[in-house]
Amino acid sequence: MSTAVLLYTMRCNIACAHCSVHSGPGRRGEMDLERARAYVDQLAAMPEIRFIDISGGEPMLHPQEVTALIEHIKRRGKSVRLTTNGFWAATPRRAEEMLRHLKAAGLDAVGLSLDKWHLDYLPASIARNYVDAARVVGFAPLVSCVVRGDCADPRAGAPEDLRVLLDFYGLGEERATDLNDWGRYMDSLAPEARAEFLAETIRERLLVNWQYLTGEGRAAEKLHKEVVWRPLSATPEERCSVAGRMPTVDQDGRLFPCCAPWVNHPERAYAAPPGRLGQAIHEMEARPALRVIRQWGPKRLMLALIARGHSFPRDNSGICNLCGQMLATADLEELDRAAEDVLRAQTAGREVMAEI
Ligand code: SF4
Ligand code: SF4
Repeated sequence: MSTAVLLYTMRCNIACAHCSVHSGPGRRGEMDLERARAYVDQLAAMPEIRFIDISGGEPMLHPQEVTALIEHIKRRGKSVRLTTNGFWAATPRRAEEMLRHLKAAGLDAVGLSLDKWHLDYLPASIARNYVDAARVVGFAPLVSCVVRGDCADPRAGAPEDLRVLLDFYGLGEERATDLNDWGRYMDSLAPEARAEFLAETIRERLLVNWQYLTGEGRAAEKLHKEVVWRPLSATPEERCSVAGRMPTVDQDGRLFPCCAPWVNHPERAYAAPPGRLGQAIHEMEARPALRVIRQWGPKRLMLALIARGHSFPRDNSGICNLCGQMLATADLEELDRAAEDVLRAQTAGREVMAEI
């Protein structure tokens, strides 16, 4: 476990068709700075958490609170990252001013969400403004992209949609580098070599964190035909290493084991009594359902639920969608009971999975 996420607000200035968490101008509810600081204080007592991500919704709808929160996180000794749609980067000058301001507050990294669906609301020029300003100010430029494709395909390489997208945003000439590959390489370097590689990244590379469009949130309604769906029988088992290990706290203080689609099911939040966030995170991580998802993947858990009599839609769009489908039909206790079936059967050397 190295990252915790604070969803400062679920409100957003725009309402992208692919938004997996239904954010938009109509959503209400902010975290409020005092509560956010209290969460940070509790996360600061957890040495295994190195990074705190501020996300949403669009957190930069509250620039003053976000600035104060960044300062607080740094005072508590954690690294801090921000995810934003970049609406504030409307001109090169405004992009640079804002990034300078956030850097001075202590921000370590800022990622820009970039998809074709953002273009319904935001001009493509903000991407260029952001990248140029990030290089000047000293951030490694990072874009997070959602592209169309088959989630069940092995990630052999970046899909064509991603290249087209970067070209369209005027970033096709950048030295695009997969964020996961970059992180692994960075971790393998000695400290002095890391600093040099980071400087080279800031100067010359564009870090890209991409994922396939999945049928979650608004995408399930608006982009059903663009999502690749497949039956469970044709879905490979795929483990999810972040289940329970990316604790996510929303604007109302609810605790989730990762981001979407869990946040779309607030009734499935894990208990996080006031002042006991650290303990709640450890208890959540140990829950059987999340252990099964980490070890074998959501498909194994879903098959155990089917064996217990649950039924699900015929098709799915990948592992996160499998989680969404399970959360729609089973509460946390039932998920754990199904997971215990899996764990017992594993110990006994037999299968509990339903035939499909
Ligand atoms: S995808 Fe991001 S920018 Fe678009 S509505 Fe959702 S939170 Fe806002
Ligand atoms: S597979 Fe499930 S647990 Fe893993 S990130 Fe997706 S929704 Fe979260």
